[in-house]
Order: sequence, then structure tokens, then C-alpha cells
Amino acid sequence: MSKQKVSRCEKCDAYCCKHIAVHIDTPEDKKDCDNIRWYLLHQNVWVSIDFEDNWLLEFKTPCKHVTEDFKCSIYKNRPDICKKYPGDGELCEGETDEPSYKELFKDACEFDRYIKTYYLSSSNELT
Ligand code: SF4
Ligand code: SF4
Repeated sequence: MSKQKVSRCEKCDAYCCKHIAVHIDTPEDKKDCDNIRWYLLHQNVWVSIDFEDNWLLEFKTPCKHVTEDFKCSIYKNRPDICKKYPGDGELCEGETDEPSYKELFKDACEFDRYIKTYYLSSSNELT
């Protein structure tokens, strides 16, 4: 998100400025799962589980302030989250091919399959 902060960003197409992800509660019952299905029925919305078992709701939509040459048009006034990304000692998304998630659902069918597989293969029961 800090496109002009470091030289690595010069060769990047502002990958990190083209989506947002927010934490959501881990689904615990059928109602929670139904809500996640609802998210995933919308275009350009993904849900993922990261390697710390956090659930994330992701909107694949670019920031309004990415310029055509992949700069930030409000650089001096960009949000803190942009200034602080990536964290100290962390690689950004543009620097690694490793996925940042262990599960990714791009639509409701993928999520349904996961829920059926996960809950049928474990002692967990959705209420
Ligand atoms: S405000 Fe600037 S740095 Fe932040 S996401 Fe938008 S374009 Fe990227
Ligand atoms: S993904 Fe990384 S290299 Fe690309 S703009 Fe964002 S911080 Fe810079």
C-alpha cells in the first residue's frame, strides 16, 4: 500500500492497492455459514483463512487513488494502514509467490464444498 515508500514498489503494479481484506469471526453455526455464503454470492468478494486461522473477507476492488502508472495520488495523506504496510521485517504480497492463506473461497460453491468436507470429516457439528 505504500507504493512510493520503497524501491521495490517501482517495479510493481500496485498489487496491494487493488483489494482490501478485513477480519471476520470464525463461523460457528449454520447462520454464520449462511452469511459467508451471502458474501460469496457477490462479485469480486472472496473469503480466506490465513495460516493463523484468521478468517478474512476480501474485496477485490482497487483503491480510487491508484494512478494509471501505479502511484498513489494521495501519498502524503494516505491512511496509516498504507503507511505501515508491510510491517517491519515482513515481505509484501508483491515480493513473494507464497499464498497468504491456507484456504481460499472465490464463490459460494467452493465454500459449501469446504464446509461439507470439513464438518463431515471432523467431530464438529454445525448447529
Ligand atoms: S491510498 Fe494510496 S497507498 Fe493507500 S491503497 Fe490507495 S493508492 Fe494505495
Ligand atoms: S505489493 Fe509490495 S511492492 Fe507492490 S506496491 Fe505493494 S508494497 Fe509495493
